[in-house]
Amino acid sequence: MELYNTLSHKVEEFVPHTPGKVKLYTCGPTVYHYAHIGNLRSYIMEDVLEKYLRYAGYQVDRVMNITDVGHLASDADTGEDKMLSGAKREHKTVMQIAQFYTDAFFADCEKLHIRKPDTVVPATSRVPDFIEMVETLLGKGYAYEAGGNVYFDTSKLDNYYVFGNQTGEDLAVGVRDSVEEDGNKRNKTDFVLWFTKSKFDDQELKWDSPWGLGYPGWHIECSAISVKELGEYLDIHCGGIDNAFPHHTNEIAQSEAYLGHPWCKYWFHVLHLNDARGKMSKSKGGFLTVSLLEEKGYNPLVYRMFCLQSHYRKPLTFSFESLDNAAQAYQRLAQRIGGLSKEGEPDLSAAKPYQEKFKEALGSDLNTSLGLTVVYDVLKAELSDATKRYLMADFDQVLDLGLLEAGEQAMRPQGAEVPQELAEKIEGLIAKRAEARKAKDWAAADAIRDELTAMGVVMKDTANGVEWHLQA
Ligand code: AMP
Ligand code: ZN
Repeated sequence: MELYNTLSHKVEEFVPHTPGKVKLYTCGPTVYHYAHIGNLRSYIMEDVLEKYLRYAGYQVDRVMNITDVGHLASDADTGEDKMLSGAKREHKTVMQIAQFYTDAFFADCEKLHIRKPDTVVPATSRVPDFIEMVETLLGKGYAYEAGGNVYFDTSKLDNYYVFGNQTGEDLAVGVRDSVEEDGNKRNKTDFVLWFTKSKFDDQELKWDSPWGLGYPGWHIECSAISVKELGEYLDIHCGGIDNAFPHHTNEIAQSEAYLGHPWCKYWFHVLHLNDARGKMSKSKGGFLTVSLLEEKGYNPLVYRMFCLQSHYRKPLTFSFESLDNAAQAYQRLAQRIGGLSKEGEPDLSAAKPYQEKFKEALGSDLNTSLGLTVVYDVLKAELSDATKRYLMADFDQVLDLGLLEAGEQAMRPQGAEVPQELAEKIEGLIAKRAEARKAKDWAAADAIRDELTAMGVVMKDTANGVEWHLQA
């Protein structure tokens, strides 16, 4: 597989540390609010990556953290813990908020066919591991105590800006914009590993540590959880592009200083979902959730389709108009698949070239829109219905759009009364299509099917001939 690596800024051949096995880590949600459809764009594309790797034959071991402590309002370690603001907003405890929004997140994932990772670890369950990592970093001279907090000393690294696109100037702007500056830091890029002083009085969850009662910084959780669960060599680390700096940059600093060698080879970042106001974000409010889309009558899988129609490395602009286009495309696809006969056996050798094409599309830096093109190619191809259905099921191991189920759904009678004249016209076209198919004139058969689809006719090939109804 070829994959773009944010570390090298190039599309590279993917070679895992252990042949045949992939260790995959994903930054999980900060559970102080519902995930918005921007967050879920990242998780959908990461899900397709995982499913493609499995499809390509790799054994994938995937871990996700749940951020339930330490992620402050500003990524530059200032402001209030986001979890605490969530708890205050809803007059609940931090742990109640964490449980509620973790469950809500996985419920959304299920609706979007995002597989729950094998291992999901809430940060609050691993504080002793974070303390151990911070102690080691102090022991190795990569960290220092100041004003009660423990900081990572970025001046100890040869190259802190590993992704190369963040200059000191950019960060200086970030610091100026933030609520407050931290005078304890020796270097402006240093970051907190363990807090005892910052916003301490307010913090609901605190743990004993060698540096006093306190709580962990946000970045340490991903380093510690990943190393503990997946070992010293990570193959792919995923996240939205906003996590590249400072979160992932800091994760790399900590993990490599702790381990004493390079840690993660490939960095997979999903570009943002934007709306008319720019990047969709929880803190800005007014964001869209899966429940909201459902309330408006959209099947969540239409949103998955919308995401798959674009490449993960391009920003994606959301509008209801474009979601409507995806809904139409999904419905048409469902009708075509629903109309395929369930009789007969697939021709596996005829299917093979299409499987190769599909694999090549997804293997080219996860080109999902090209993968969808292969789906349409199959539906248009001179293949038996059984082979087409076989291929839909095969591709759906990766796309996971529920293609066959959507087909079934599209075939359910809608109970519409059809005027006699129209019914005769439709029956006539169906008979012509049957003749064309008998004569193996697939192009003519497909053209007639397209004409029928355009008329809103939904067909199903059964042992007793074609059953049809008009779309509601
Ligand atoms: P958070 O819950 O804020 O920790 O974010 C969860 C994931 O969503 C992270 O991987 C973020 O990088 C990602 N993310 C946040 N906003 C967006 C967005 N507008 N589009 C795509 N991904 C996003
Ligand atoms: Zn992380």
